[in-house]
Amino acid sequence: MTRTFAVIGDPIEHSLSPSIHNAAFKALNLDCTYIAYRIPRSELKEGIESLRQIKISGFNVTIPHKIEMMQYLDESSPECKMIGAVNTVSNENGKFIGYNTDMDGFLEPIKKRSIGISGESVLVLGSGGAARAIVAGFAKERAKKITIANRTIQKAQELSKFTSGLGVESDHTTLSDVDVSKYKFIINTTSVGLKNESSLISTNKINTNHVVYDIIYMPMSTDLITQSKKNSATIIYGYEMLLGQAVLAFQIWHKIPAPYDTMKKVLLGGV
Ligand code: NAP
Repeated sequence: MTRTFAVIGDPIEHSLSPSIHNAAFKALNLDCTYIAYRIPRSELKEGIESLRQIKISGFNVTIPHKIEMMQYLDESSPECKMIGAVNTVSNENGKFIGYNTDMDGFLEPIKKRSIGISGESVLVLGSGGAARAIVAGFAKERAKKITIANRTIQKAQELSKFTSGLGVESDHTTLSDVDVSKYKFIINTTSVGLKNESSLISTNKINTNHVVYDIIYMPMSTDLITQSKKNSATIIYGYEMLLGQAVLAFQIWHKIPAPYDTMKKVLLGGV
């Protein structure tokens, strides 16, 4: 019987996940299909019930359900509990088990480049859902200090408190007060760049010692990335995180290595 997988969210029509996973199924000749399923925020409970009814094999969770979904899980991984959000669910004998592959998916391109995190200082722009998984990743890898800069200062303060709770020194600042010279890692987790807007921070002092990682994957290169590249910083693109989390979700569901190159090719062709 064909096994069905999905991504749930709202909006969902532009999600690249169906293309990535369906290409992987085809490459490995798996009898599986992956669909995009729009569930409005107010209908999450009913939507999840319908997924149980059709015996869905697994699904990804995206905006706006990553936090709310936690209450509909039968069990959750330690990462899910630490971050307080879920992006991957596996149906294991009728039980919905939650995982969070955003954190390790984010870290994967850093590790692949053999860039050390332990003892380094990190600047995170933004305080939304994605930022939570990212600070948890830096905490796990023993960063020395994480500074949160956000438009809404109260949210920066809250995320900084959450970060301190993970055992890492943390503070917060306004976007206009950011001094990039204090950090090795500069991470954009805001949605600024999606519409080709200018970078939220001045890039004049970004140099070869910096690692600049923008998690926006469409467009592939934001103004922050373009300017930082000109200044010879190490660049990490948002599509690499998207690919990393998809590969890990695939491996949770299928318990075999994911066809990385196939999935990457689809993603690069689609962005
Ligand atoms: P979110 O929870 O809605 O958070 C959005 C963040 O962007 C908030 O910190 C918000 O600041 C900030 N922001 C929005 N507009 C701004 C503006 N005009 N000026 C300054 N700050 C602004 O979203 P999210 O889930 O964290 O996702 C954020 C981005 O990451 C999205 O573009 C998403 O596509 C991308 N993403 C990529 C991946 C990947 O795999 N590469 C994974 C997840 C998310 P306020 O608090 O002040 O509103």
